[in-house]
Amino acid sequence: MSIVKKYAHPIIIFLIFEIVAVTLWLTKHNLFYLLNFSYIGISIALGVFLYIRRYKHARRVVQLLVGIYMLVYLGLICNENMQIEGFWYYLFTGVFEAATIHYAVAKIFGPLIFGRGWCGYACWTVMVLDFLPYKVPKEPRKKLGWIRYLTFAASLIFVSSLFLARVGNLERIMFWAFIVGNVVYYAVGIALAFAFKDNRAFCKYICPITVFLKPMSYFSLFRVKCDKEKCVSCGKCKRVCPMNVDVTDNSRKRENGTECILCMECVKSCPKDAL
Ligand code: SF4
Ligand code: SF4
Ligand code: SF4
Repeated sequence: MSIVKKYAHPIIIFLIFEIVAVTLWLTKHNLFYLLNFSYIGISIALGVFLYIRRYKHARRVVQLLVGIYMLVYLGLICNENMQIEGFWYYLFTGVFEAATIHYAVAKIFGPLIFGRGWCGYACWTVMVLDFLPYKVPKEPRKKLGWIRYLTFAASLIFVSSLFLARVGNLERIMFWAFIVGNVVYYAVGIALAFAFKDNRAFCKYICPITVFLKPMSYFSLFRVKCDKEKCVSCGKCKRVCPMNVDVTDNSRKRENGTECILCMECVKSCPKDAL
């Protein structure tokens, strides 16, 4: 197999990010976009490259590279609220800047192509939660997904209220909202992981961003598919899946299909190379 063919995926990923980087750089006349999207593209392409090289922690490398960059550099140093409140804030002010662009690319339109890749490879919340001991859920999934709509509504009401009440110094408030929001996310995420014996419990029941991610990723171009000719129905793929996806069903309506984070644990574990 030629080198280019073998590493086609990381090359394509890198090129897609470069197109976004250069387009935004030239249209917004801001070098930040070139550096930002190039860094993220290189990080993800590196992870996919390491995965092809069968490096066990490839996904974690990307998660840490992108997650720390977004949390520490963009969030804490550049004072950009990259949480959902920041998205509402910039949307209401009509500014198409960091948080709105980030949401448009990673969480709203991007999932039409790469599904919930954000959740598998970049989110700074699960960058921490994935260190916890319950990588594979130890208990059946709960019917608590409705909570995400409450947190989604709460974030929207919080930011709308600030605008309606004409509160001043919103930039500062959004910075502190970012700090407090992250502390709350980590605290709730860790507590739920231990309570439900599932590192991804926060993603499954609480995270408001899934209100965007789930419907868009339903149409995702990149999906893990099952070769029915090879599959022996051993069920191993479902047992190792952190998101309880029935990956042997190729239909878009498969059980928990919009939860797939493209972590590839099922692919790695299949004894028949059916995925
Ligand atoms: S569901 Fe939310 S918390 Fe979980 S990985 Fe995705 S964006 Fe992060
Ligand atoms: S692990 Fe492979 S062989 Fe087993 S059920 Fe899943 S796809 Fe089929
Ligand atoms: S184990 Fe497979 S089906 Fe489950 S989330 Fe990861 S890639 Fe998706």
